[in-house]
Amino acid sequence: MSPVTDIINELVNMHNTSDENLLQLICTENELPQLTSAADKIRRDHYGTDVYIRGLIEFTNYCRNSCYYCGINAHNKNACRFRLDKQDILSCCDKGYPLGFRTFVLQGGEDPYYTDDIICDIVYSIREKYPDCAVTLSIGEKTRKSYQAYYNAGASRFLLRHETADSVHYNKLHPSKMSLENRKRCLYELKDIGFQTGSGFMVGSPFQSAENLVSDLRFLQELSPDMIGIGPFIPHSETVFADCEQGSLKTTLKMISILRLMFPYALIPSTTALGTIHPDGRELGLKAGGNVIMPNLSPDSAKLNYTLYNNKLCTGDEAAEQLESLKIKVRSAGYEIVTDIGNVKR
Ligand code: SF4
Repeated sequence: MSPVTDIINELVNMHNTSDENLLQLICTENELPQLTSAADKIRRDHYGTDVYIRGLIEFTNYCRNSCYYCGINAHNKNACRFRLDKQDILSCCDKGYPLGFRTFVLQGGEDPYYTDDIICDIVYSIREKYPDCAVTLSIGEKTRKSYQAYYNAGASRFLLRHETADSVHYNKLHPSKMSLENRKRCLYELKDIGFQTGSGFMVGSPFQSAENLVSDLRFLQELSPDMIGIGPFIPHSETVFADCEQGSLKTTLKMISILRLMFPYALIPSTTALGTIHPDGRELGLKAGGNVIMPNLSPDSAKLNYTLYNNKLCTGDEAAEQLESLKIKVRSAGYEIVTDIGNVKR
Protein backbone atom coordinates (compact mmCIF):
# COMPACT_ATOMS: atom_id res chain seq x y z
CA MET A 1 0.00 0.00 0.00
CA SER A 2 1.29 3.47 -0.87
CA PRO A 3 1.13 6.20 1.79
CA VAL A 4 -2.01 8.30 1.25
CA THR A 5 0.11 11.43 0.75
CA ASP A 6 1.92 9.79 -2.18
CA ILE A 7 -1.38 8.83 -3.80
CA ILE A 8 -2.73 12.36 -3.44
CA ASN A 9 0.51 13.82 -4.89
CA GLU A 10 0.23 11.46 -7.83
CA LEU A 11 -3.36 12.58 -8.42
CA VAL A 12 -2.31 16.24 -8.19
CA ASN A 13 0.57 15.83 -10.64
CA MET A 14 -0.70 13.14 -13.02
CA HIS A 15 -4.50 13.44 -12.54
CA ASN A 16 -4.47 9.67 -12.37
CA THR A 17 -3.38 6.76 -10.21
CA SER A 18 -3.82 2.99 -10.10
CA ASP A 19 -7.07 1.19 -9.32
CA GLU A 20 -5.44 -0.11 -6.15
CA ASN A 21 -4.61 3.41 -4.97
CA LEU A 22 -8.11 4.69 -5.77
CA LEU A 23 -9.61 1.83 -3.79
CA GLN A 24 -7.35 2.70 -0.88
CA LEU A 25 -8.57 6.32 -0.89
CA ILE A 26 -12.22 5.33 -1.25
CA CYS A 27 -12.12 2.67 1.46
CA THR A 28 -10.18 4.49 4.15
CA GLU A 29 -12.39 5.24 7.13
CA ASN A 30 -10.42 8.34 8.07
CA GLU A 31 -11.21 11.86 7.08
CA LEU A 32 -8.68 12.93 4.48
CA PRO A 33 -8.10 16.67 4.96
CA GLN A 34 -5.03 16.49 2.65
CA LEU A 35 -7.31 15.23 -0.14
CA THR A 36 -9.82 18.04 0.41
CA SER A 37 -7.18 20.76 0.50
CA ALA A 38 -5.39 19.41 -2.61
CA ALA A 39 -8.74 19.39 -4.45
CA ASP A 40 -9.53 22.91 -3.28
CA LYS A 41 -6.14 24.17 -4.47
CA ILE A 42 -6.65 22.66 -7.94
CA ARG A 43 -10.15 24.12 -8.08
CA ARG A 44 -8.81 27.59 -7.20
CA ASP A 45 -6.04 27.23 -9.83
CA HIS A 46 -8.68 26.63 -12.52
CA TYR A 47 -11.73 28.55 -11.35
CA GLY A 48 -10.55 30.84 -8.54
CA THR A 49 -13.30 31.16 -5.97
CA ASP A 50 -16.06 31.39 -8.60
CA VAL A 51 -19.21 29.39 -8.05
CA TYR A 52 -21.47 29.15 -11.08
CA ILE A 53 -25.20 29.01 -10.54
CA ARG A 54 -27.64 27.13 -12.76
CA GLY A 55 -31.37 27.79 -12.59
CA LEU A 56 -33.05 24.42 -12.34
CA ILE A 57 -36.49 24.17 -13.93
CA GLU A 58 -38.19 20.86 -13.21
CA PHE A 59 -40.83 20.85 -15.92
CA THR A 60 -42.35 17.36 -15.85
CA ASN A 61 -42.35 14.50 -13.39
CA TYR A 62 -44.01 12.09 -15.78
CA CYS A 63 -41.59 9.37 -16.85
CA ARG A 64 -41.93 6.27 -19.01
CA ASN A 65 -39.11 4.55 -17.11
CA SER A 66 -39.03 2.85 -13.76
CA CYS A 67 -35.51 3.12 -12.42
CA TYR A 68 -35.69 1.25 -9.13
CA TYR A 69 -34.22 4.10 -7.08
CA CYS A 70 -36.36 6.93 -8.42
CA GLY A 71 -39.41 8.39 -6.70
CA ILE A 72 -41.07 9.53 -9.94
CA ASN A 73 -40.73 6.17 -11.65
CA ALA A 74 -43.68 5.21 -13.87
CA HIS A 75 -44.99 2.64 -11.36
CA ASN A 76 -45.42 5.09 -8.51
CA LYS A 77 -49.17 5.58 -8.54
CA ASN A 78 -48.98 7.94 -5.57
CA ALA A 79 -46.83 10.51 -7.32
CA CYS A 80 -48.69 13.73 -7.97
CA ARG A 81 -47.83 14.35 -11.62
CA PHE A 82 -47.39 17.76 -13.26
CA ARG A 83 -46.26 19.33 -16.49
CA LEU A 84 -45.20 22.90 -17.19
CA ASP A 85 -45.94 24.49 -20.54
CA LYS A 86 -43.72 26.87 -22.46
CA GLN A 87 -45.18 29.94 -20.80
CA ASP A 88 -44.64 28.46 -17.32
CA ILE A 89 -41.04 27.69 -18.23
CA LEU A 90 -40.41 31.16 -19.66
CA SER A 91 -41.83 32.62 -16.45
CA CYS A 92 -39.18 30.66 -14.51
CA CYS A 93 -36.50 32.19 -16.75
CA ASP A 94 -38.05 35.66 -16.27
CA LYS A 95 -37.70 35.13 -12.52
CA GLY A 96 -34.13 33.83 -12.78
CA TYR A 97 -32.54 36.29 -15.19
CA PRO A 98 -32.72 39.40 -12.96
CA LEU A 99 -31.39 37.30 -10.07
CA GLY A 100 -28.23 36.61 -12.11
CA PHE A 101 -28.92 33.22 -13.64
CA ARG A 102 -27.28 32.82 -17.06
CA THR A 103 -27.94 29.09 -17.45
CA PHE A 104 -31.34 27.44 -17.36
CA VAL A 105 -31.48 23.69 -16.83
CA LEU A 106 -34.64 22.03 -18.10
CA GLN A 107 -34.95 18.79 -16.21
CA GLY A 108 -37.68 16.20 -16.52
CA GLY A 109 -38.53 12.55 -16.67
CA GLU A 110 -38.65 10.82 -20.05
CA ASP A 111 -42.08 12.17 -20.88
CA PRO A 112 -43.33 11.40 -24.42
CA TYR A 113 -45.84 14.26 -24.12
CA TYR A 114 -42.93 16.61 -24.92
CA THR A 115 -42.26 15.81 -28.56
CA ASP A 116 -39.04 16.99 -30.15
CA ASP A 117 -40.98 19.86 -31.73
CA ILE A 118 -42.24 21.01 -28.33
CA ILE A 119 -38.78 20.77 -26.73
CA CYS A 120 -37.17 22.61 -29.65
CA ASP A 121 -39.79 25.33 -29.48
CA ILE A 122 -39.18 25.81 -25.75
CA VAL A 123 -35.39 25.88 -26.21
CA TYR A 124 -35.64 28.27 -29.15
CA SER A 125 -37.96 30.60 -27.24
CA ILE A 126 -35.64 30.78 -24.23
CA ARG A 127 -32.62 31.45 -26.42
CA GLU A 128 -34.53 34.08 -28.38
CA LYS A 129 -35.56 35.90 -25.23
CA TYR A 130 -32.27 35.41 -23.38
CA PRO A 131 -29.52 35.09 -26.02
CA ASP A 132 -26.77 35.54 -23.42
CA CYS A 133 -27.94 32.46 -21.51
CA ALA A 134 -27.19 28.79 -22.01
CA VAL A 135 -29.91 26.17 -22.07
CA THR A 136 -29.05 22.81 -20.56
CA LEU A 137 -31.30 19.81 -21.10
CA SER A 138 -31.62 16.90 -18.72
CA ILE A 139 -34.35 14.81 -20.30
CA GLY A 140 -32.88 11.35 -20.62
CA GLU A 141 -32.19 8.89 -23.37
CA LYS A 142 -33.19 9.94 -26.90
CA THR A 143 -32.20 9.19 -30.47
CA ARG A 144 -29.28 10.95 -32.08
CA LYS A 145 -31.75 12.69 -34.38
CA SER A 146 -33.58 14.15 -31.38
CA TYR A 147 -30.36 15.29 -29.71
CA GLN A 148 -29.26 16.94 -32.96
CA ALA A 149 -32.62 18.76 -33.20
CA TYR A 150 -32.27 20.11 -29.64
CA TYR A 151 -28.73 21.27 -30.42
CA ASN A 152 -29.87 22.98 -33.60
CA ALA A 153 -32.63 24.71 -31.62
CA GLY A 154 -30.01 26.26 -29.33
CA ALA A 155 -29.45 23.87 -26.41
CA SER A 156 -25.70 23.64 -25.85
CA ARG A 157 -25.43 21.45 -22.76
CA PHE A 158 -26.90 18.10 -21.77
CA LEU A 159 -26.81 16.26 -18.46
CA LEU A 160 -27.23 12.49 -18.41
CA ARG A 161 -25.79 10.64 -15.46
CA HIS A 162 -24.60 7.14 -16.26
CA GLU A 163 -25.37 6.27 -12.59
CA THR A 164 -23.04 3.26 -12.58
CA ALA A 165 -20.51 2.13 -15.17
CA ASP A 166 -20.70 -1.54 -14.20
CA SER A 167 -23.30 -3.32 -16.32
CA VAL A 168 -24.10 -5.96 -13.67
CA HIS A 169 -24.67 -3.20 -11.13
CA TYR A 170 -26.61 -1.15 -13.69
CA ASN A 171 -28.99 -4.06 -14.21
CA LYS A 172 -29.66 -4.23 -10.47
CA LEU A 173 -30.77 -0.60 -10.46
CA HIS A 174 -32.80 -0.54 -13.67
CA PRO A 175 -35.48 -2.64 -15.37
CA SER A 176 -34.38 -4.98 -18.16
CA LYS A 177 -35.53 -2.70 -20.96
CA MET A 178 -32.86 -0.18 -19.94
CA SER A 179 -29.19 -0.80 -20.57
CA LEU A 180 -25.83 0.74 -19.74
CA GLU A 181 -24.93 0.26 -23.39
CA ASN A 182 -27.71 2.60 -24.52
CA ARG A 183 -26.87 5.13 -21.82
CA LYS A 184 -23.26 5.20 -23.06
CA ARG A 185 -24.43 5.43 -26.67
CA CYS A 186 -26.40 8.55 -25.75
CA LEU A 187 -23.44 10.13 -23.96
CA TYR A 188 -21.02 9.56 -26.84
CA GLU A 189 -23.54 10.87 -29.37
CA LEU A 190 -24.15 14.00 -27.30
CA LYS A 191 -20.42 14.66 -27.22
CA ASP A 192 -20.07 13.96 -30.91
CA ILE A 193 -22.85 16.43 -31.75
CA GLY A 194 -21.02 19.12 -29.80
CA PHE A 195 -22.96 19.39 -26.53
CA GLN A 196 -21.07 20.27 -23.37
CA THR A 197 -21.92 16.96 -21.80
CA GLY A 198 -22.42 16.05 -18.18
CA SER A 199 -22.47 12.63 -16.62
CA GLY A 200 -22.13 11.26 -13.12
CA PHE A 201 -23.22 8.66 -10.63
CA MET A 202 -24.80 7.95 -7.27
CA VAL A 203 -22.61 7.25 -4.27
CA GLY A 204 -23.81 4.48 -1.97
CA SER A 205 -26.51 3.12 -4.27
CA PRO A 206 -27.79 -0.36 -3.38
CA PHE A 207 -25.33 -3.18 -4.24
CA GLN A 208 -22.55 -0.68 -5.01
CA SER A 209 -18.98 -1.75 -4.24
CA ALA A 210 -15.86 0.40 -4.04
CA GLU A 211 -14.74 -1.34 -7.24
CA ASN A 212 -17.90 0.00 -8.93
CA LEU A 213 -16.85 3.53 -7.97
CA VAL A 214 -13.44 2.93 -9.55
CA SER A 215 -15.24 1.76 -12.73
CA ASP A 216 -17.21 5.02 -12.65
CA LEU A 217 -13.98 7.02 -12.55
CA ARG A 218 -12.48 4.98 -15.39
CA PHE A 219 -15.59 5.42 -17.53
CA LEU A 220 -15.50 9.17 -16.93
CA GLN A 221 -11.85 9.24 -18.01
CA GLU A 222 -12.89 7.54 -21.24
CA LEU A 223 -15.84 9.89 -21.80
CA SER A 224 -14.07 13.07 -20.64
CA PRO A 225 -17.29 14.96 -19.81
CA ASP A 226 -17.40 18.69 -19.16
CA MET A 227 -19.68 18.36 -16.16
CA ILE A 228 -19.69 15.63 -13.52
CA GLY A 229 -22.59 15.41 -11.10
CA ILE A 230 -22.53 13.01 -8.21
CA GLY A 231 -24.65 12.76 -5.11
CA PRO A 232 -25.39 10.34 -2.32
CA PHE A 233 -28.10 7.77 -2.95
CA ILE A 234 -31.16 8.72 -0.90
CA PRO A 235 -34.03 6.21 -0.70
CA HIS A 236 -37.59 7.07 -1.68
CA SER A 237 -40.46 5.43 0.20
CA GLU A 238 -42.35 4.49 -2.99
CA THR A 239 -39.51 2.45 -4.48
CA VAL A 240 -38.20 -1.07 -4.00
CA PHE A 241 -35.15 0.45 -2.33
CA ALA A 242 -37.24 2.24 0.31
CA ASP A 243 -35.45 0.51 3.19
CA CYS A 244 -31.92 0.73 1.83
CA GLU A 245 -29.31 2.78 3.62
CA GLN A 246 -28.51 6.18 2.17
CA GLY A 247 -25.08 6.99 0.74
CA SER A 248 -22.55 8.53 3.10
CA LEU A 249 -21.61 12.18 3.23
CA LYS A 250 -17.98 11.34 3.85
CA THR A 251 -17.65 9.06 0.80
CA THR A 252 -19.50 11.52 -1.43
CA LEU A 253 -17.19 14.36 -0.40
CA LYS A 254 -14.17 12.15 -0.91
CA MET A 255 -15.40 11.26 -4.41
CA ILE A 256 -15.89 14.96 -5.24
CA SER A 257 -12.28 15.64 -4.24
CA ILE A 258 -10.98 12.67 -6.25
CA LEU A 259 -12.99 13.90 -9.26
CA ARG A 260 -11.54 17.40 -8.90
CA LEU A 261 -8.00 15.99 -8.92
CA MET A 262 -8.65 13.68 -11.86
CA PHE A 263 -10.67 16.25 -13.86
CA PRO A 264 -9.27 19.67 -12.85
CA TYR A 265 -11.22 21.46 -15.57
CA ALA A 266 -14.62 19.95 -14.77
CA LEU A 267 -17.80 21.67 -13.69
CA ILE A 268 -18.75 19.75 -10.57
CA PRO A 269 -21.97 20.66 -8.79
CA SER A 270 -22.38 20.54 -5.07
CA THR A 271 -25.75 18.84 -5.35
CA THR A 272 -29.11 19.25 -3.66
CA ALA A 273 -28.79 15.66 -2.43
CA LEU A 274 -25.72 16.67 -0.41
CA GLY A 275 -27.66 19.55 1.14
CA THR A 276 -30.47 17.13 1.89
CA ILE A 277 -28.36 14.72 3.95
CA HIS A 278 -26.43 17.38 5.88
CA PRO A 279 -27.32 20.98 6.78
CA ASP A 280 -23.94 22.19 5.53
CA GLY A 281 -23.73 19.63 2.74
CA ARG A 282 -23.69 22.16 -0.06
CA GLU A 283 -20.87 24.22 1.49
CA LEU A 284 -18.90 21.04 2.27
CA GLY A 285 -19.33 19.99 -1.35
CA LEU A 286 -17.81 23.29 -2.48
CA LYS A 287 -14.89 22.90 -0.07
CA ALA A 288 -14.32 19.39 -1.39
CA GLY A 289 -13.87 20.71 -4.94
CA GLY A 290 -17.34 21.53 -6.28
CA ASN A 291 -17.82 24.75 -8.25
CA VAL A 292 -21.47 24.76 -9.33
CA ILE A 293 -24.77 25.13 -7.47
CA MET A 294 -28.19 24.56 -8.99
CA PRO A 295 -30.87 26.52 -7.12
CA ASN A 296 -34.44 25.66 -8.01
CA LEU A 297 -36.40 28.09 -10.20
CA SER A 298 -39.45 25.84 -10.58
CA PRO A 299 -42.87 26.96 -9.32
CA ASP A 300 -43.56 25.73 -5.77
CA SER A 301 -46.03 23.01 -6.80
CA ALA A 302 -43.48 21.56 -9.23
CA LYS A 303 -40.68 21.70 -6.65
CA LEU A 304 -42.76 19.77 -4.15
CA ASN A 305 -43.76 17.04 -6.57
CA TYR A 306 -40.43 16.47 -8.27
CA THR A 307 -39.46 14.01 -5.59
CA LEU A 308 -36.68 11.81 -6.91
CA TYR A 309 -35.95 10.84 -3.30
CA ASN A 310 -37.44 11.55 0.12
CA ASN A 311 -37.06 14.90 1.92
CA LYS A 312 -35.48 16.56 -1.12
CA LEU A 313 -34.57 20.14 -0.30
CA CYS A 314 -36.55 22.58 -2.40
CA THR A 315 -37.18 25.51 -0.12
CA GLY A 316 -34.92 27.80 1.89
CA ASP A 317 -31.56 28.35 0.24
CA GLU A 318 -32.39 25.71 -2.35
CA ALA A 319 -35.05 27.99 -3.83
CA ALA A 320 -33.71 30.52 -6.32
CA GLU A 321 -35.67 33.26 -4.57
CA GLN A 322 -33.31 32.89 -1.60
CA LEU A 323 -30.23 33.56 -3.67
CA GLU A 324 -29.06 36.43 -1.45
CA SER A 325 -28.99 34.17 1.59
CA LEU A 326 -27.22 31.48 -0.42
CA LYS A 327 -24.61 34.04 -1.56
CA ILE A 328 -23.82 34.88 2.06
CA LYS A 329 -23.36 31.21 2.97
CA VAL A 330 -21.18 30.55 -0.05
CA ARG A 331 -19.09 33.63 0.76
CA SER A 332 -18.59 32.50 4.33
CA ALA A 333 -17.38 29.14 2.99
CA GLY A 334 -14.70 31.06 1.04
CA TYR A 335 -16.24 31.26 -2.44
CA GLU A 336 -18.27 33.70 -4.51
CA ILE A 337 -21.40 33.18 -6.57
CA VAL A 338 -20.88 34.94 -9.91
CA THR A 339 -23.20 36.08 -12.67
CA ASP A 340 -21.64 34.21 -15.55
CA ILE A 341 -22.73 31.75 -18.22
CA GLY A 342 -20.17 29.46 -16.59
CA ASN A 343 -18.62 27.56 -19.46
CA VAL A 344 -16.13 24.79 -18.81
CA LYS A 345 -12.45 25.85 -18.78
CA ARG A 346 -10.58 23.04 -20.52
S1 SF4 B 1 -34.25 8.35 -12.86
FE1 SF4 B 1 -34.93 9.56 -14.61
S2 SF4 B 1 -35.36 8.02 -16.23
FE2 SF4 B 1 -35.30 6.91 -14.27
S3 SF4 B 1 -37.46 6.86 -13.58
FE3 SF4 B 1 -36.49 8.67 -12.63
S4 SF4 B 1 -36.92 10.38 -13.99
FE4 SF4 B 1 -37.30 8.46 -15.13
